[in-house]
Amino acid sequence: MTDRYAVFGNPIAHTKSPGIHAEFARQTGQDLAYEAIEAPLDGFRAAVLAFRDAGGLGANVTVPFKEQAFVLATQRSDRADAAGAVNTLRFEGDEIMGDNTDGAGLVSDLVDNLAFDPAGQRILLLGAGGAARGVGLPLMEREPYELFIANRTAYKARELSARFDCYGGGFEALEGRQFDLVINATAASLAGELPPLPDDIFAEGALAYDMMYGRETPFMSFARARGARVADGLGMLVEQAAEAFLVWRGVRPQTAPVIAMLRAA
Ligand code: NDP
Repeated sequence: MTDRYAVFGNPIAHTKSPGIHAEFARQTGQDLAYEAIEAPLDGFRAAVLAFRDAGGLGANVTVPFKEQAFVLATQRSDRADAAGAVNTLRFEGDEIMGDNTDGAGLVSDLVDNLAFDPAGQRILLLGAGGAARGVGLPLMEREPYELFIANRTAYKARELSARFDCYGGGFEALEGRQFDLVINATAASLAGELPPLPDDIFAEGALAYDMMYGRETPFMSFARARGARVADGLGMLVEQAAEAFLVWRGVRPQTAPVIAMLRAA
């Protein structure tokens, strides 16, 4: 019998995850099916349990259900606990194991695909929503010189920074400061907007990373115009999927060919 997995979200029509996991399965010779399921906004729990009861072995979870997945999990990894959100579920008998692979995905993309080692670097994380929460612990584990979290609503950045034992505040705290890596984990790009960044925020040779993918964002253009190296979030998307595949199947597929395939498409 083919092993079944799924991604739950709302909306979910534009997800790339089924294509990514189909490619991972082909590459590793594994017999599995991966589908996209749009759960009703008030029906996430029921949809996941129905999928499990029908034989599903695991699931990814995306917007807006990651916090609900955290509550649904009966056991959680440290990185899921640190994030307060779950994007990967594994069903084992009556247990529901919750994990969060977003941060590991980002770090893999930085280190393996972009040759950027966070160790000893000054890192600025923009945003304090679900995406930012997921990457705080994995970034701190790489021992940067500094991690600063800046958010439009300053108190959320301060709360989050206390959680990761780093620094945080509003955008005004960035005046006169430079960073080697600036990660845009705000939803500003979705609205075609630019977070209010000082002109000289990028240190010499800095990397500007937008978690959004699929188009040039105002943040990417801003960074390019100021001499920074620029990356989008497509690599993170594929790397977090590879990490989920590892959680489920015990093997980590090769990501470079899948990233190349998606870029070509
Ligand atoms: P959330 O809604 O949880 O958080 C949104 C964050 O963006 C908040 O910190 C909010 O600030 C801030 N924000 C929203 N609009 C603006 C603006 N105009 N200017 C400045 N700050 C703004 O979203 P997520 O954290 O889930 O997602 C954020 C981004 O990350 C999205 O673009 C998403 O597509 C991307 N993402 C990419 C992934 C990948 O694999 N590549 C994985 C996960 C997410 P405030 O608190 O003040 O409201």
